[in-house]
Amino acid sequence: MEVIRQIAAAKKLLREESSKGRSIAFVPTMGALHPGHRRLIEVAREKADLVVLSIFVNPTQFNDPEDLQNYPRDEEADLKMAEEAGVDMAFVPTVEEMYPPGFLTSANVARLSSKLEGASRPGHFRGVCTVVLKLLHIIRPDYMVLGLKDAQQFTILQHLLDDLCIDTELTGVPTVRERDGLAWSSRNVLLTKKQRRQALSMYRALKRTHFLVKKQGILHTGELLQAVRSVIQTSGAELDYAEIVSRVTLEPLDHVERGGTYVLLAVRVGKVRLIDNTRI
Ligand code: AMP
Repeated sequence: MEVIRQIAAAKKLLREESSKGRSIAFVPTMGALHPGHRRLIEVAREKADLVVLSIFVNPTQFNDPEDLQNYPRDEEADLKMAEEAGVDMAFVPTVEEMYPPGFLTSANVARLSSKLEGASRPGHFRGVCTVVLKLLHIIRPDYMVLGLKDAQQFTILQHLLDDLCIDTELTGVPTVRERDGLAWSSRNVLLTKKQRRQALSMYRALKRTHFLVKKQGILHTGELLQAVRSVIQTSGAELDYAEIVSRVTLEPLDHVERGGTYVLLAVRVGKVRLIDNTRI
């Protein structure tokens, strides 16, 4: 596995590979790799000849400096896991490499970026879109593999690619969970035992909505959200938001549209903020 830190070097190597007719699949991450990321790499392997993983804790997508500072980082372990998982090139730029002095540009997908995560974390998706667009120009992948754990991010990036006629094909990978159902997240390592138990209420709440929809035929989102809130609040976790929205527009729905609906949750346990979702 090649570890590349410079944009120019990444471009050179990747253009050479492309000119030999090799296809490229790209997995963007912020590191602190876990089995969710590993699954993304596996899917990327199935898609293309060459797998490129980026590890970059992107400062512009953090609106809370403390969150950025506390974000877990372990480059050595990440590179080991990446190599074992079959990554061909790890692109690990510094902040200065990605945002040199004088950097002025940003990309924004209007409307979709201001709700849900965007409402709780102003500027978050502008940071995400800008860094992903820059990475896409550096790597020029045929495929980009993303996790559906970040469902809103997936929808926004699909929009970005469509609007700007970028020919990279997106693949969304279902959320990978720990044995008890907690979605793998780089931030899970920051949880105490008690906080972890509280965080698990997200999974229980999502399972409850499936039960209510599938076994009891409840489609009214007000009723479903009440059940979700009750599960989260009983656990002691602090609910940031719970919404039931259309998969396409991310607009709240009055009634579940089967197959086309996301239940999206964000909670805080101590200083850690976690998200999860399910599709109904
Ligand atoms: P992150 O490093 O957390 O920014 O995530 C990098 C990529 O991994 C994003 O596309 C995430 O959606 C995806 N991802 C994170 N956690 C999971 C998970 N538990 N299952 C599947 N994909 C995930």
